[in-house]
Amino acid sequence: MTPRVLTTTEEVREALAGPGRVGLVPTMGYLHDGHAALIRQARAACDVVVVSVFVNPRQFGVNEDLGRYPRDLDRDLAVAGAAGADLLFHPEVTTMYPDGYATTVTVSGVSGPPEGHARPGHFDGVSTVVLKLLNIVQPERAYFGEKDWQQLAVVRRMVRDLNVPVRVVGVPTVRAASGLALSSRNSYLTPEQQERAVVLSRALWAVQEAAAAGERDTARLVQAGLEVLARDPEVRPDYLTVVDSDMRERERVENDPMTRVLVAARMFGVRLIDNVPLWAEERWTGGEDA
Ligand code: AMP
Repeated sequence: MTPRVLTTTEEVREALAGPGRVGLVPTMGYLHDGHAALIRQARAACDVVVVSVFVNPRQFGVNEDLGRYPRDLDRDLAVAGAAGADLLFHPEVTTMYPDGYATTVTVSGVSGPPEGHARPGHFDGVSTVVLKLLNIVQPERAYFGEKDWQQLAVVRRMVRDLNVPVRVVGVPTVRAASGLALSSRNSYLTPEQQERAVVLSRALWAVQEAAAAGERDTARLVQAGLEVLARDPEVRPDYLTVVDSDMRERERVENDPMTRVLVAARMFGVRLIDNVPLWAEERWTGGEDA
């Protein structure tokens, strides 16, 4: 079924006036199978599933891709409907930030390096819009992808710190058969360029392999990943790091399941991010040799 499109907060309130557990899946649209996984998980646990589609200007830096970010509401309705969404909240920028809007939510610490350092102000924009969406929809559960690992950590911190009555659910990253993490921004790349971009995944797997082989020194683990990235001259690494659950890089890694390998790099003028757990029961073995 095609979800009903809502554009105002009043419409959302009316549509959700009845009983039942509400699940929210916040997105910036141009939906793909990664978003669909979040929606399906919400569908399985909730009575009413709301997907928000809002390209939030406040989480883009001045020289970033806000102007060209892909948008296609018909496609979003088809993907969201097929995955089981009931409602699609698609507000105008002026609905979210009317004249005189003056409030920003800042989460300290966990919104710093690596991603918050590379994109100053980005997580202020994210936490502000997510809190607004949570207040508008008032869901019992909200679904976020592990693809944006640090974003998930920032949202969890905000929800805890501000006593937001919602359960945050993290959903594992959905990948193409090649291993490339699905992303709306992959649409900026040709199929051949997307194949080349698998080098990011290979770098992450190389770090996992080094850890599995016994390496505990963070600098050497990072080096193992950077060596893979260096093999493709098209890659302009932004960062590759191994962090704990508070996004801190320590000298030596612990045997903690929350330890994560994060990478960000530019390829073909497009900024891509990805991450994997350092300790993975099943490491990706597809694709070429790392
Ligand atoms: P975006 O539209 O890129 O802002 O993403 C909306 C939500 O979908 C975020 O919680 C993302 O982490 C999540 N997401 C994006 N790509 C993927 C993916 N490949 N696998 C799982 N979740 C994803």
